[in-house]
Amino acid sequence: MKHFPIFMALEGHRVVVSGGGEAALAKLRLLLKTEARLTVIAANAAPEIAAWADEERLTLINRSMEAGDALCARLFYAANEDDAEDARVADLAHRDGALVNIVDNLEDSQFITPAMVDRDPVVVAIGTEGAAPVLARAIKKDIEERLSPRLGLMARIGKAFRAKADALPFGLKRREFWADYYNKDIATEAQAQEALDTLLGKHLNAQAKEGHVELVGAGPGDPDLLTMKARKALDAADVVIYDRLVAPEILELARREAVMLSAGKEGFGPSVTQDAINEMIVSHARAGAHVVRLKSGDPTVFGRLDEEIEACEASGVAWSIVPGITSASAAVASLGQSLTKRGRNSGVRFITGHDTKGFADHDWKTLAREGEVAAIYMGKKSARFIQGRLLMHGVDAATPVTVIENASRPNQRILATCLGELEPTLSDANLSGPALVFLGLAPRAAMAAAQQHELEAVS
Ligand code: SAH
Repeated sequence: MKHFPIFMALEGHRVVVSGGGEAALAKLRLLLKTEARLTVIAANAAPEIAAWADEERLTLINRSMEAGDALCARLFYAANEDDAEDARVADLAHRDGALVNIVDNLEDSQFITPAMVDRDPVVVAIGTEGAAPVLARAIKKDIEERLSPRLGLMARIGKAFRAKADALPFGLKRREFWADYYNKDIATEAQAQEALDTLLGKHLNAQAKEGHVELVGAGPGDPDLLTMKARKALDAADVVIYDRLVAPEILELARREAVMLSAGKEGFGPSVTQDAINEMIVSHARAGAHVVRLKSGDPTVFGRLDEEIEACEASGVAWSIVPGITSASAAVASLGQSLTKRGRNSGVRFITGHDTKGFADHDWKTLAREGEVAAIYMGKKSARFIQGRLLMHGVDAATPVTVIENASRPNQRILATCLGELEPTLSDANLSGPALVFLGLAPRAAMAAAQQHELEAVS
């Protein structure tokens, strides 16, 4: 490709044409469609050009071209139909900084004007780099026949309608709407307007009937820790499928008419099988319901989210994720600590005490590094296993460990202990609610006191 096609912004910019005969007229007929400020320089301008000048559609300078005439021009056309004169004016314009086209002289032109099919704002440009002007004309004719003469009108009215069409979801749904519109046979502006309104109604209706799934994070329990988006989803839900850990106060916020279904599971210990849950989600969505799949904390953290997404995908059900506050964030806030701290830990691990196979194995060596912080989810039953593994890998038995039960809820409890005493402290406490275990973190006050103690011991 020797020439790269672009569409140049000409609104308010100067374009200069040198010449007043047929060649100049042909270019001017095209250029007058733009919003450029046109200047024609010609000692003998054709009567049409003089008439356009009278109508103030262009400026006519009745003499031959001089240096400086093309200053600040974006484009310059040499259209004198005289090779020597064209070469002279092209040189002047070039010095003035304009991009130069010499009519019928591809070799010395910096740009060429393509054949065009004009349905403003839809414009099709056809170029053959001068190789096959006949072919260009044939293609132009073909496209002229194919594009409705009303396409420009439709595109202009369509453009103004774009914000309204944004009510449809981005992607396929919106494309289908526009394809429907541009396939319509439309004669007037009023018809275009009416077609858009009717089509949008039709597409939105179809959309509403289709059903979709929102995979929503319910946060750690405090309803104030729900996101606005989660609240909106609950407000609009037809069906809510919730995990056992989701706090009752949050279920209260669902739309009154919503069908509430328990998926009855906690972490990796489902009492309803995952397949049955997937089936529940998909069948309701397929029946046209807006399904809210409500999971505790953030749905992307130990939530078997991918299995549910895959089930939606496999059935062609639309889905989206609404993030939530994960229990580690709520738990660490209750300790007055931060998850990462300069000079202590530059990363934090979210690990699970057990997975589908039983107690979960981890990179214990890394966890044993000094200052390491880990949030252990589902760690109640596996506390003794984790404690044993960490001690075996050389973690100091005095390393702080804190258990937070029911983080962010009114019955929140904090057990501050150390690795050596994690068990039996945890078993003795008889926790009944969900609990998160922090390795390497103590409540702020206790941590500060311990540091003070260490300092005193040193001095
Ligand atoms: N997706 C959830 C985690 C699900 S796994 C989240 O992002 O929080 C379930 C585990 O999360 C529980 O065993 C417990 O370790 C933890 N958990 C959930 N809610 C909790 C809460 N309010 N307080 C403490 N731990 C909680």
